[in-house]
Amino acid sequence: MNFIEAVDRREVELLPACLNDYVCKDNPIRELDDFVESLDLVECGFLFPKQDIQGRGRPSYHPKHLLKLLIYGYMNGLRSGRKLEKACGINLEIMWLLQKLKPDFKTICDFRKNNSEAFKKVAAAYSISCYDKGYISGQLLAVDGSRIKGLNAPDKSWSKSKIERLCSHFEKEIDQYLKLLEEADNHPVDSDEQLRERVCKKLKHLEKRKAEIETIQREMEGCEYISQTDSDTKILKKNGTVVVGYNAQTVVDKKHGLIICSEVTNKNNDNGLLAPMCKQAKELLNLEKTESVADKGYFNAEDLRLCEENNIIAYVSEVMMSPSERKGLFGKRAFKYISKDDYYICPAKQILLPPQKTQNINKKSNYRNKNACKNCPIKSRCTSAQYRTISRSEYEPYLERNRRRLEEHQDIIRLRQAIVEAPFSWLKHHSLIGGFITKGLKMVNAEFSLA
Ligand code: SF4
Repeated sequence: MNFIEAVDRREVELLPACLNDYVCKDNPIRELDDFVESLDLVECGFLFPKQDIQGRGRPSYHPKHLLKLLIYGYMNGLRSGRKLEKACGINLEIMWLLQKLKPDFKTICDFRKNNSEAFKKVAAAYSISCYDKGYISGQLLAVDGSRIKGLNAPDKSWSKSKIERLCSHFEKEIDQYLKLLEEADNHPVDSDEQLRERVCKKLKHLEKRKAEIETIQREMEGCEYISQTDSDTKILKKNGTVVVGYNAQTVVDKKHGLIICSEVTNKNNDNGLLAPMCKQAKELLNLEKTESVADKGYFNAEDLRLCEENNIIAYVSEVMMSPSERKGLFGKRAFKYISKDDYYICPAKQILLPPQKTQNINKKSNYRNKNACKNCPIKSRCTSAQYRTISRSEYEPYLERNRRRLEEHQDIIRLRQAIVEAPFSWLKHHSLIGGFITKGLKMVNAEFSLA
């Protein structure tokens, strides 16, 4: 049979191969190389090692080489310092990128640790360069968050229920051993001295463990969960799944699905993050105005106001059913507001007026018509109380405008998923497989910027 012939390892080539020949012209690492070379690393905030004036001592690696290595690592799922160190000796792309430099794992890890602030600026610089080249349009920004696992050892993570379970377990065990000791004391003749010693030793160990757990319980005062590995991680719940880690937020551009900016928080939900994230992206790209789209997790009246004030037209999905609608009653959207004369028209075509005193302390007005409700033929479909009130807050105009936009542009809401979820899928299955490998909110933010 014929097979493709392999090269003889000992064969000497007439013209030695050049490292540049191993990296084809359209390889993305050429873009990475150009990008890092174009950066002003001092402006980004990278720490440059102090040089001896007389040139004594071992020279350090230039930050640009270590930055290239880290970015390459996150592009290819190589994150640990030891894996990167090994790859420097065997990976042709890295050899090309680093021009055959081989930093050790400690140098790589220290560089990542000491320059955490600078990585965010590198990510921002990349977004700006993509905008300048036309890869980012800045016309429609999709905002979303995802829960990403933090660095946690299961035996160093404590929840309230775990602590309670362990405390009662130790108490039961201690009780049993104390009973054994008591029996041995009551029948000193039959007792075995060795057994007594063993029981005392076991008791001492159990009491020590119980005291440790009680110390953690005291530290936990006021919180549901504590991690001794990374104290910034939180228990995050969404759609029935529980993740101990962080809530990573991204703003993604519609044109090519590129992330414009990101922020990692340990907030359990996305509420209140829409305006700050959109503002960050808008200021970064220096946009005059833009549009943004987000799911119902971001629905927040104050955020809608902030977006409008900052020239950001937001399309935020609303919760499908209000509490009244869930009970089978008319929801607020069945009541039409007449802004000119400041009243609502209810489903029975009656007029609901605001109270004489304009606003209460919550800046809400309750519109009602007690007399009309008393004799209303469809009251059973409207309220179970004596009469129906419709409250109107200072944010109502922003909510109404958002509702109108949603009705007119359903296509934008449908686009959201397609824009924003692909980058998260890439990040979770490629760059951040298994979650973050760094600890603390500051470092995790730096790691997410690199990814
Ligand atoms: S109960 Fe009152 S508010 Fe409701 S439909 Fe009847 S009149 Fe209108």
